[in-house]
Order: sequence, then structure tokens, then C-alpha cells
Amino acid sequence: MSEQKRNLKAHPPRVPMPERDPAERILGFDEVPLGYTEEQARAEADRCLDCKNPKCVTGCPVNINIPKFLREVREGRYQDAANTLRETNSLPAVWPRVSCKKSNASRCVLKAFATIPLQSVT
Ligand code: SF4
Repeated sequence: MSEQKRNLKAHPPRVPMPERDPAERILGFDEVPLGYTEEQARAEADRCLDCKNPKCVTGCPVNINIPKFLREVREGRYQDAANTLRETNSLPAVWPRVSCKKSNASRCVLKAFATIPLQSVT
């Protein structure tokens, strides 16, 4: 991780979230993001720089410890990651849908940190 901190230009790109095909989307109300595979979730979580003063946490309306959550996903500790989400948030399934893109992700020093839906890690 320290190597990534020194060279942001070499930082791995965001892992795109797989999404339901638009032709299928118009037929119903099923979830558009399909969720990451375990490998994708760990790769995305591995992009976190584990900042000393994480702006993502102060930007989060429910103060989720996002670096801790991402560290647990990165290490494959999914139950711990789910518990971290629930520590300060009683609606963890709602959080990624309404909060991350507007607050946490925009505060992230990487500017576009992906959201990892809870269903991807539970
Ligand atoms: S601001 Fe971004 S890179 Fe820094 S700890 Fe938060 S999620 Fe990780």
C-alpha cells in the first residue's frame, strides 16, 4: 500500500461494477448493479490508500469506518466487514444506494471510489 501512496499515477483503476443489461432493465425493477465477484470486491478494496485522515469517513453521514471496512473486504473477512457497516448504520442495505456516490465517494482522495454493495460481501 505504501508503494501506491507514493505513486498515485500508477494506482490501479476502478473496478467497474457489473450492471444489468438495459434491455433487461426496462422489463422490471430488479437491481441494476449486479455486485462484485469476490475477486472484484477484493481488487476494488485494495485500491484504498488507508489515509491517515480519511475524508471518506468525515463525508459519510453515518460515519462508517470505510478504510476498516475496505481492509476487511481486502483480507476476505466479510462478516467483519458487514459488522463494520452495521456499527454506525442501522440501514446498511440502503447506505450504498443513497449515500456513497454523493458523499463518501466524492470525498475520497481517489475521487471515484466505487461502492461495494453489502450484498457483495455477505
Ligand atoms: S479517502 Fe479513499 S483512499 Fe482514503 S481511506 Fe477513504 S476510501 Fe480509502
